[in-house]
Amino acid sequence: MSKKKESQSRIFSVSNNELQCSFCGKSIDKVDFVFTEDRYKSNSIICNKCVNLYYDILELQKEENFTETFLKPNLKDFTPKTLYNELNKYVVGQDEAKKILSVAVYNHYKKMNSKDEFNKSNVLMIGPTGVGKTLLAKTISKYLKLPIAIVDATVYTQAGYVGEDVENILLSLYQKANNNLKLAEVGIVFIDEIDKISRKGDSPSITRDVSGEGVQNSLLKIIEGTICNLPPNGGRKHPYEEFIKFDTSKVLFICSGAFEGIENIESARVGFKRQKNIYHFDVKKLEKYGMIPELLGRLPVVCKLNSLTTTDLVKILTEPQNAIIKEYQNLFSLNNTKLDFSNEALKEIAEYTFKFKLGARGLRQVLEKILMDYLFNIDDYKNKEIYIDQDNVLSKI
Ligand code: ADP
Repeated sequence: MSKKKESQSRIFSVSNNELQCSFCGKSIDKVDFVFTEDRYKSNSIICNKCVNLYYDILELQKEENFTETFLKPNLKDFTPKTLYNELNKYVVGQDEAKKILSVAVYNHYKKMNSKDEFNKSNVLMIGPTGVGKTLLAKTISKYLKLPIAIVDATVYTQAGYVGEDVENILLSLYQKANNNLKLAEVGIVFIDEIDKISRKGDSPSITRDVSGEGVQNSLLKIIEGTICNLPPNGGRKHPYEEFIKFDTSKVLFICSGAFEGIENIESARVGFKRQKNIYHFDVKKLEKYGMIPELLGRLPVVCKLNSLTTTDLVKILTEPQNAIIKEYQNLFSLNNTKLDFSNEALKEIAEYTFKFKLGARGLRQVLEKILMDYLFNIDDYKNKEIYIDQDNVLSKI
């Protein structure tokens, strides 16, 4: 019998007022309808009011255990090492950053499951563009099956000014979680270009700095943990709308920036007690760069990412699970064409990309240029092999 039919066969509106609900004891002529196994027996009856009550209790319980029950399957075998191994599958190099992140993210979600108050392990990643910062954050979110919102700090302005409200970051996370608030509240926010909202000038400015310090202050609130009222349908808040109450206290924030020129900022004098974060990054330098100390205080984990070498670029081409070369080989194999590259050819591609500072993002462009004719004439290569050597590369770039 189908579930629907089966359940319908157990709903009765009964007129026998001698019967009563087995749970609340109410006479059944006082309720709308009852569920029972057998309409002629009186030993197992539940009234609609009790069903509602127990349903509510079940829902409440689900909510209380939500974080635990939700995260448990994802975190069952999760240790810093398993995350590190996962990052290794997709991200080349950046070993120190991978380790620091693995520990920080593990601690974050571990602490989240405890009942005590805790300080979040929000992260600040420092490194040039195109070296894997966003990729690291995306890989973490995929591994933990948690939603991630990737946003650019430069589009936001201080609350009340023209521009995007920082609360939209949370709205975006909520949407990424398919409007599941509980899931969004344990998600990840990746804020790129955080260095571009640094305070202008070393001393706090007298004129209002709505795009720099102002935004940092607005971000500070959501990063340290607050309850934000979000308009359910996005857009402008409407006074009569029911808001979504988004609690940010468990969201993991990963901020990222190039902080160009930070290496030229002098460290504090020797002997001067420097404020350092747990990974001994000289936080004073970031302060001098224009980050407000309160925000830095909320980003206790700082990790540095290195520029990519040509050796890294060759590895990026070939090694990650979803490496670009593998992707093209798969594409050609759909046509029964074998695609291969000589080691010198790969090196040439990496050196060209490096020389013109195209970064890892540029590898795809260069490869596309080299393979364009083959892609265009793909029909001619059915059941054949294409072998790209160094000369081949040099003639195309
Ligand atoms: P950013 O540091 O600016 O956030 P991304 O992580 O967005 O850089 O990198 C851009 C692209 O370049 C990635 O999607 C990826 O394909 C490639 N890439 C960059 N760095 C690495 C790396 N270390 N390992 C593997 N791929 C990388």
